[in-house]
Amino acid sequence: MICDAVIRGNFRIAQDTFRMVLECPEIARQAQAGQFVTLPVSYPLDTWRRVFTVYEVNGDQLVIVYRVVGENTKLYSRMRACQKISLAGPFGQPAIIDFTVKRFILVAGGCGLATRTARPSPTTSSAGGSTWAPAHPRGSYKPAA
Ligand SMILES: Cc1cc2nc3c(=O)[nH]c(=O)nc-3n(C[C@H](O)[C@H](O)[C@H](O)COP(=O)(O)OP(=O)(O)OC[C@H]3O[C@@H](n4cnc5c(N)ncnc54)[C@H](O)[C@@H]3O)c2cc1C
Repeated sequence: MICDAVIRGNFRIAQDTFRMVLECPEIARQAQAGQFVTLPVSYPLDTWRRVFTVYEVNGDQLVIVYRVVGENTKLYSRMRACQKISLAGPFGQPAIIDFTVKRFILVAGGCGLATRTARPSPTTSSAGGSTWAPAHPRGSYKPAA
């Protein structure tokens, strides 16, 4: 699915790293942990849209976290609230996590921006969309001894 998402926030959260909130009910209501979305490229000869992990979903809004590494991400970092951007997705297999399991091992690559703090809640709304909650609300995580 592809649609025009409205940017609701695009803030720097660390060096060269931004958090973009995109409003797009059609995609946000379907997105699940482990999936990804794509954004358009700025250069006409660069044909592949850029891929971003779905970091968080809040109702009609979907959040990505991205690092500025090239021309496209530089352009995204300059975009402001209320601007529109083409959003496609959700793609990929959702990460199905069995929360009866007591201990997890996370293996990650890239710049480590995956859906670390979000997980699908055990309940799914009647509209078919998942609501997400932090696996460990900020500061509450205590690693196993
Ligand atoms: C499954 C998946 C999930 C992903 N999720 C995320 C995510 O959540 N967050 C995230 O930040 N990224 C994510 N990525 C990476 C993302 O899709 C893009 O690849 C990345 O953001 C590229 O940004 P860009 O288009 O600005 O850089 P590009 O323009 O593609 O540049 C990439 C690199 O190549 C260098 N480069 C470009 N052109 C040249 C040239 N002519 N000569 C020499 N060097 C050059 C740039 O300096 C830069 O270092 C994901 C990728 C995949 C496959």
